[in-house]
Amino acid sequence: MSTTAPASWGRYPSSQPRCLLPCRDAQMPTLPAEPQFCLPFGNGRSYGDVCLNNGGTLLLARGLDRFIAFDPATGILRAEAGVLLSEILALIVPQGWFLSVTPGTQMITLGGAIANDVHGKNHHWAGSFGCHVRAFELRRSTGERLLCTPAQNADWFRATVGGLGLTGLITWVEIQLQRIANPWIVAENRRFASLDEFLALNAEYEARYPYTVSWIDCAARGRVLGRGIYMAGMHAPPGLMKSPPPERRALTVPFAPPVSLVNNLSVRWFNRLYYHLPRPARGLTPYQPFFYPLDNLLEWNRLYGRRGFFQYQCVIPPAAAREALREILARIAASGQGSMLAVLKRFGDKTSGGLLSFPRPGFTLALDFPNLGQKTLDLLGSLDEVTRQAGGAVYPAKDARMSGDSFRRYFPQWAEFSRYIDPRFSSSFWRRVMKN
Ligand SMILES: Cc1cc2nc3c(=O)[nH]c(=O)nc-3n(C[C@H](O)[C@H](O)[C@H](O)COP(=O)(O)OP(=O)(O)OC[C@H]3O[C@@H](n4cnc5c(N)ncnc54)[C@H](O)[C@@H]3O)c2cc1C
Repeated sequence: MSTTAPASWGRYPSSQPRCLLPCRDAQMPTLPAEPQFCLPFGNGRSYGDVCLNNGGTLLLARGLDRFIAFDPATGILRAEAGVLLSEILALIVPQGWFLSVTPGTQMITLGGAIANDVHGKNHHWAGSFGCHVRAFELRRSTGERLLCTPAQNADWFRATVGGLGLTGLITWVEIQLQRIANPWIVAENRRFASLDEFLALNAEYEARYPYTVSWIDCAARGRVLGRGIYMAGMHAPPGLMKSPPPERRALTVPFAPPVSLVNNLSVRWFNRLYYHLPRPARGLTPYQPFFYPLDNLLEWNRLYGRRGFFQYQCVIPPAAAREALREILARIAASGQGSMLAVLKRFGDKTSGGLLSFPRPGFTLALDFPNLGQKTLDLLGSLDEVTRQAGGAVYPAKDARMSGDSFRRYFPQWAEFSRYIDPRFSSSFWRRVMKN
């Protein structure tokens, strides 16, 4: 048993599990005697408390780290649930395959990708991660061992995809990959001066590009509210580029300063500079900086200081999006809080069927906020008002403070879902949103 308490990426809230149990050999470890609750822990890349279990047991799923099978003819890969996406990419990219869906970091496990049904820049074409899962094994504390596919034990499949680790331990996963010709991306960058310009550009680019995302200057107000940079990409066709991309050397933020280096002043200056920075309108780029720009700065979450930070990611239905996004951005700009890392994109209609999956048709906006205590909680509470009124939802993987009432509105299938929770499993997140 280890004693270091694993943390989530936002470094908030702090949590002290009573017991850490490493998982090995696709088995459920022997659980401690009741009444302690258990929760699988992947690689801690969730921002808030979905991967935390204060006072309970964490099942350290990274130990499930073996590849089981890979067929380079069909692109079907089976691996244990603690394998990282970065490890999968190292195996498959040289053989002409790529993940069908990838989030903005490759440092997550297969189990974590399923439990939050993660999405990427290609949601409008490919849906979420769960849409490309062919099968997985779910082990329950009751001794049950369920093979789950979209057709077999389909109800367990739908509960576990996006199921926040609560239905049991996923031991192995089988996914379908997509073919690529080389590791390069044809990328386009366009500056836009307002939210309306973004909406027009988005309609044009989404039809042509599988990957789209926009950076938003969340410090901009008034006429230029919602200005930003539109980024679109596609895998480069054969023949365009043959050489392998150069090696990237990662830097590490060595320690967390006592106060956040991300503050009102640094955000305003960074955003202004970043918006005006000259960048090529079109070019070839290796896949790593295109998909994972932040993975090159290891432990970048320390920049927010010892109090940690919040992430707020909401999705707003298409019909309400223009007004609601304007209101959210205006509230953030007026508060003087906000981030350098604000991203906006549209989710398409394709869903995985996961009962608690976050992605749904609409526009999704994600931002980081240094933790300034009550001031930040008040701002995020006021953003919730807008999201709720617009019929939207907030992403549990990025949350550390939404109310139980908001959660139940955002995820009306929560009661149906709760029938599938393993009797020995719970999380800090689940106890929080079921309590208030
Ligand atoms: C820089 C950065 C960028 C990100 N970009 C995106 C993005 O673009 N899109 C997106 O959707 N998300 C994004 N995320 C969030 C991240 O992809 C998710 O939070 C992901 O679920 C983290 O996976 P993990 O392996 O670190 O799992 P953890 O964070 O440790 O756990 C996440 C959940 O998975 C459960 N779990 C883990 N392993 C298992 C298992 N074996 N069996 C059952 N349950 C399990 C846990 O109980 C928990 O509920 C980003 C995060 C970071 C830090």
